[in-house]
Amino acid sequence: MVKIMDPYGAELPEDYAKVIKDFGLEEFDVDDFPHPNCLMRRGVVFAGRDLKMISRCIKEKKPFYVLSGIMPTNDKIHFGNKQVVENIRYFQDRGAKAYILVADLEAAAARGVSLEEGRRRALEFHIPAYLALGLDLKKTVFYFQSENRDVVHMAYEFAKKITLNEFKAIYGSADPGRIMSAVTQVGDILYPQLEERMPGIIPVGIDQDPHIRLTRDIVDRTKDRKFFRPSSLYHKYTPSLDGSLKMSKSKPESCIVLPEDVKSAQKKLRRALTGGRETVDVQKKIGGEPEKCMVFEMHKQHLIEDDKELKSIYDKCKSGAIMCGECKDIACNRMEKFMKEFEQGIVKARKQVDRLNFVKFA
Ligand code: SF4
Repeated sequence: MVKIMDPYGAELPEDYAKVIKDFGLEEFDVDDFPHPNCLMRRGVVFAGRDLKMISRCIKEKKPFYVLSGIMPTNDKIHFGNKQVVENIRYFQDRGAKAYILVADLEAAAARGVSLEEGRRRALEFHIPAYLALGLDLKKTVFYFQSENRDVVHMAYEFAKKITLNEFKAIYGSADPGRIMSAVTQVGDILYPQLEERMPGIIPVGIDQDPHIRLTRDIVDRTKDRKFFRPSSLYHKYTPSLDGSLKMSKSKPESCIVLPEDVKSAQKKLRRALTGGRETVDVQKKIGGEPEKCMVFEMHKQHLIEDDKELKSIYDKCKSGAIMCGECKDIACNRMEKFMKEFEQGIVKARKQVDRLNFVKFA
């Protein structure tokens, strides 16, 4: 059976090892990357494509780029965006030139957001939010998709290099909007190589792998340009707080958006699915199950930086030395601190918007 990963779906993979096998991915080897970040150390970053090429660039100090996009469909982002920014920052700090594109054309086509509105949202919220999450302003180049003729030209050129059936085999279905959006993304992914031919890495959620596969197939068929096939880095999803799907705004009661009112975020955390036992007595006796717990997932992926502290919570949970109420108090306090710093960071970053380095188009 043909396996499809839907970049537009909300499903949560049950088994990431199976995803690696089914889609022919490389397992992420933390030893290949110097000073790995929390997500890498904790197995949240779990796979990729052509990762050795990027680890060589880092070790041999050769040029490479890291690229990601902003979709300005509304004025909120989610924890998946935070993971992407942390990984961009990791590569920026190790010599990558970073590109952030604002996918205003896609937002207009898919959601009817006018180009003006997309621009406003990007400048007033999304870019400041990315800066607040740690993106390094001085080492990042930005552009708007709608202004980048090279990307649009490449999208037209690349559309001829794939058949409808091949497209369906990667994406599961093929409607004109999806095809246009996908080939435009291929243009975005390869655009930095028009400026300087070099390897590049795209850190994304695993659901975005179809775009990477399509780009790699198209590179193989574009002999005259000699692009490097893009590498990719995949992180696991932040699950919804009820553990059923990836965290998504379509399930607001189980999703914490960024930014969100602290009280509302804390209320959701208190109702989250835990790995706690039926009674306090049983939990004290046999311990909890952090592996099944969404609060622990939030500690691990987003709220606790320090590995020793995380391990201490894990051990205390397993031994029954901490109960879920106390553990949720820790998560709620961290969430409050995180949201406050994030909102303050946005306010500060808005003052830096005039210093952004946008690609100049003739
Ligand atoms: Fe989850 Fe904490 Fe309860 Fe353990 S003690 S099950 S980690 S909430």
